[in-house]
Amino acid sequence: MDMLVKSLPAELVVRLKSARRAAALTGAGVSAESGLPTFRGDEGLWKKYKAEDLASVDGFLQKPDIVWEWYEYRRSIYANAQPNLGHRALAELEKFYPEFTLVTQNTDGLHFAAGSENILELHGSLRRNRCHSCGQLYPEKVPDEGRKPPRCGCGGMLRPDVVWFGEPLAPSILDAAWRAASQAEVFFSVGTSALVQPAASLPLAAKRNGALLVEINLEPTPLSFAADFFLEGKASEWLGLIKEELQ
Ligand code: NAD
Ligand code: ZN
Repeated sequence: MDMLVKSLPAELVVRLKSARRAAALTGAGVSAESGLPTFRGDEGLWKKYKAEDLASVDGFLQKPDIVWEWYEYRRSIYANAQPNLGHRALAELEKFYPEFTLVTQNTDGLHFAAGSENILELHGSLRRNRCHSCGQLYPEKVPDEGRKPPRCGCGGMLRPDVVWFGEPLAPSILDAAWRAASQAEVFFSVGTSALVQPAASLPLAAKRNGALLVEINLEPTPLSFAADFFLEGKASEWLGLIKEELQ
């Protein structure tokens, strides 16, 4: 299989070139090639904890020190990560299409590092902290007072400014994502397991509104049945090919 040189279906290329409005949803798979583990892969376990138990309000309130440590660990990996060809190709697509919205579930900031501008971070960003009590925002690096987690001026505990399991998404960001999905003529779903709601509904909403749905993943997902084109393989390879066709 890997011996074959990948190529894009001609019909797909025609459709991609004729569209004016495009949007993409990205997930942890896009950053996997930058060395960042996905949640559901084998590496998605830290010590013996499940991501779902760490990335939740309950988990945080029960073990705030452990949750803070887990994020310190993840941030230490993310600190050295560089955007890969997939991120960079998406930044080029933004230049090609008159309208392009990049909706990401990733919190690593690598789409910004790659040069994308119109980004909706559905699940927040690890590049910021926030007070769990009063909502005050803080940068990623806060003065180390030796407390895990560090405290806000109000006495509340700091946490990464990300959306945890069971927490609502920011309404303004979600609204903008629905709008982009419903207006898109082409919608790319890339490197996401399409299991986490409401993100997973965006590609389907786009398709319902007439978008061509293009999915890129190493393996089929619950979304694949609805995809007009399922491109099996690495995000960097397929996005690289798409970028070359469109340039
Ligand atoms: P996920 O871990 O559930 O799924 C990752 C998907 O990417 C899988 O379907 C896998 O087959 C695919 N994949 C892996 N490597 C790939 C590659 N090289 N090319 C193409 N596809 C590839 O991730 P998700 O769908 O984003 O949802 C999990 C949640 O975890 C999200 O809410 C996200 O916020 C969070 N998360 C973020 C990061 C990050 O910011 N880098 C990392 C881990 C988890
Ligand atoms: Zn506070």
